[in-house]
Amino acid sequence: MLDSATLTRRLLDWFAARRRELPWRRDADPYRVWVSEIMLQQTRVEAVVPFYERWMARFPDVTALAAADEQEVLRRWAGLGYYRRARMLHAAAKEVVAAGGALPADRAGWRALPGVGEYTSAAIASIALGEPAAVVDGNVKRVAARFLALGLAADDRKLHQAAEAWGTALLAHAPSPGDLNQSLMELGATVCTPRAPRCGNCPIAAGCAAEEPLSHPLPPKKTPWKELQLDFLIAEKGGRYLLEQKRTGWTPGMWEPPGVRLGRMVSTTPLGSVRHTITHHKIEARAFRQLDWDGVGAVDPAAVPLSGLGRKLIALAERGR
Ligand code: SF4
Repeated sequence: MLDSATLTRRLLDWFAARRRELPWRRDADPYRVWVSEIMLQQTRVEAVVPFYERWMARFPDVTALAAADEQEVLRRWAGLGYYRRARMLHAAAKEVVAAGGALPADRAGWRALPGVGEYTSAAIASIALGEPAAVVDGNVKRVAARFLALGLAADDRKLHQAAEAWGTALLAHAPSPGDLNQSLMELGATVCTPRAPRCGNCPIAAGCAAEEPLSHPLPPKKTPWKELQLDFLIAEKGGRYLLEQKRTGWTPGMWEPPGVRLGRMVSTTPLGSVRHTITHHKIEARAFRQLDWDGVGAVDPAAVPLSGLGRKLIALAERGR
């Protein structure tokens, strides 16, 4: 077994040598770390990088973000999905600016902002403020589950608690808490990966208790997928479309062609269908083109934030024009 101090040192040395150069790692500015952490929730690093760069060019600080119109914020988020994250980020920026413009100075202050939960507050506080707060994400849980051979399911709260306790013990020996947290996340993302862990390249292999890494963590209980068939009306004139802003549902605030009931449609012709998956639903979205539309209320689809499904439907309609 390796003691906590040795483990911490090995992880920090490994991270210093192997860390990926990512735009939000260029400095530990709290705003930049915050934006990157929100974008990285449920989205892969490679996908986030270009969005992050464009975002920083347009909203370089919290004041610029707070001053922006929500529609623009959502439009610039389009493609990252899970739009609630963008709305919360925007709301939090406004809250910060309304309170004088200073970003929180500790984890508790961050935790109090909209959209900043346990994980994100620990990440920002450790990376940008040097606070020894353990981060627990899917990568850290997998590394902990294997290293400690815990035999717990990926979605078991006990695994979360064990990973947090392990991280806290390691942080006690870390001069740079942000680097230690990032080393665990990076190890999970690049070495102790879900399906093909490379134990021969692992800096903490000497202390790892997992005899069969792939058997940890145990699989989570599956939530069944629901199949749905929905119909949409495509009314277009000169590249502009009839679009409506969603008030409720999966993507409130985003725009897409109006959903319709087949029985109520007159003068339409089938255009095809697209498939879309969102939070445990598999959707077959059928599109019907409205014939002889007068174009009243037509919207330029590039001028509004489209939902993911909306983008697919407009692309289908554009191909069929
Ligand atoms: S030795 Fe293998 S299973 Fe254990 S932490 Fe390292 S990569 Fe993961």
